Amino acid sequence: MKVAIFSDVHSNLEALEAVFKDMKREEPDKKFFLGDLVGYGPNPNECVELIRENSDVVLAGNHDLAAVGLTDHSYFNPYARDSLLWTIELLTDANKDYLKSLKPTAVTDGVQLSHSSPLAPDEWRYVHSLQDAMDNYDSLVKNVCFIGHSHIPMIIEYADASNIIPIHDIYKTLEPKRKYIINAGSVGQPRDSNREACYLVYDDKIRNVSYRRVEYDLARTQKKMTKAKLPEHLIKRLAEGR
Ligand code: ZN
Repeated sequence: MKVAIFSDVHSNLEALEAVFKDMKREEPDKKFFLGDLVGYGPNPNECVELIRENSDVVLAGNHDLAAVGLTDHSYFNPYARDSLLWTIELLTDANKDYLKSLKPTAVTDGVQLSHSSPLAPDEWRYVHSLQDAMDNYDSLVKNVCFIGHSHIPMIIEYADASNIIPIHDIYKTLEPKRKYIINAGSVGQPRDSNREACYLVYDDKIRNVSYRRVEYDLARTQKKMTKAKLPEHLIKRLAEGR
């Protein structure tokens, strides 16, 4: 089975449409979304509706649950908080109800999915360091776990609980007896110094992961953000991929 896995759209409709267009060429059997439909960008309702219609699994991210009062946002930085309040004003009741129904983890089709760390999915922790990777080993219920949240594409390979190899290749064949945490990167706000939308395709038959980067009309997204008076910092960072 071939699955397209994408995450962290953050209300960026142009990036989302470009990624869906690219997925059409890849012809995946299923599409899994790992959370953060909204927050930061100018089109929350359109993104919720498109993702809902076109995905087989949709997880909740911290921005989604914060927008419907189901998780604390006191730790959000001022830019994230400003865009969150703007998003809350704009979201329709139907889309809020939908966001409320989402969960931050899933196990499906032989893989594990989690918006943030599988160890503590409600605490929205990152998996950045080797220590984080070690801490998460026991929470892996499947050999392959896809995550989002950090917006940084990366593969963590476990030979065993303490023997961990970080991999930055954009194309990787997984070893059958090893475990993996694989970050899908971000569609709507990449932070790995590459401004192109990021997602990945996983083929479980040949155990292959391949990252895709997709150009989109960034200037159009930025114009909408300016018009909506969203924070300047959020507008600029899209062009810098950080
Ligand atoms: Zn995010």
